[in-house]
Amino acid sequence: MRAPFTEDWSAVDIGLIGVPFDAGTTYRPGARFGPREMRNQSTFLNRIHHRSNIAPFDLCRIADLGDVWVETPFHLELAINHIAAFYKRISASGITPLTAGGDHSIALPILRGIAAGRKLGLLHIDAHADTSPGRWGSNYYHGGPFRMAVEEGLIDPMRTVQIGIRGSLPIPDLWKYSTDVGMRFIEIEDCHDMGWPNVIAEARRIVGDEPTYISFDIDSLDPAFAPGTGTPEVGGLTPIEAQMLIRGFRGLNLVGADVVEVSPPFDPTGTTALVGATIMFELLCVLADARAARGNRA
Ligand code: MN
Ligand code: MN
Repeated sequence: MRAPFTEDWSAVDIGLIGVPFDAGTTYRPGARFGPREMRNQSTFLNRIHHRSNIAPFDLCRIADLGDVWVETPFHLELAINHIAAFYKRISASGITPLTAGGDHSIALPILRGIAAGRKLGLLHIDAHADTSPGRWGSNYYHGGPFRMAVEEGLIDPMRTVQIGIRGSLPIPDLWKYSTDVGMRFIEIEDCHDMGWPNVIAEARRIVGDEPTYISFDIDSLDPAFAPGTGTPEVGGLTPIEAQMLIRGFRGLNLVGADVVEVSPPFDPTGTTALVGATIMFELLCVLADARAARGNRA
């Protein structure tokens, strides 16, 4: 988005951050290159939202804080700790983070960093609920960050909404944990049956006025629009459905957001990264609006 790069965090309201990490991927990797390619495609984006007229760069001081340095990418647990430490410093600096991943395992350390003793609400847009138990000897991977986030008290499952879930399952009741702990679990078919305005209205009612985080997995979109991702699932959202969904979250008490799972090696035309960067702009607009409404406090 041509935002200035800075290492001085004292004059930043919203930080654009890359997490080039995909060691939590179950199948095909590549999301480590997501931040680089989303930065590249984001040069197409401009300053003013054409529908809401939100001008995020006028409302807030926005900077690119670069990429999180992951010291030990071969050691999943330590790497997750490094990422969490970075976001603890972001939180302590009063910065609202908008992150480009990276695979979805990075959502857990982001939440560890910014929850700060609160249980955050969560709006989670994804083909997958990502509440699986540990697998292959690790609790830390892209199929389980939100289960860990509940168990660690970082998110309130009663204020969590999962939108766009679909796809064939390896075992029955793969996502049973979500509904067991009280998350609102909305499969893509239900989104269409309800109609998107009703999905938005229900999601807003569930998360309420308390602090809420948005986590956007690019595989929520149909692979026709976003093929460059590790675990594509046919039957997904169109880009405009995703854009209007995020616009519908304007006015909520939003404290951060991410776009994860953009995998440039599977994205030969760059379309997926362009869609990812565009979703980041939509998120930036609602984050800037929320932050301005709080008097520019994190
Ligand atoms: Mn995911
Ligand atoms: Mn997914």
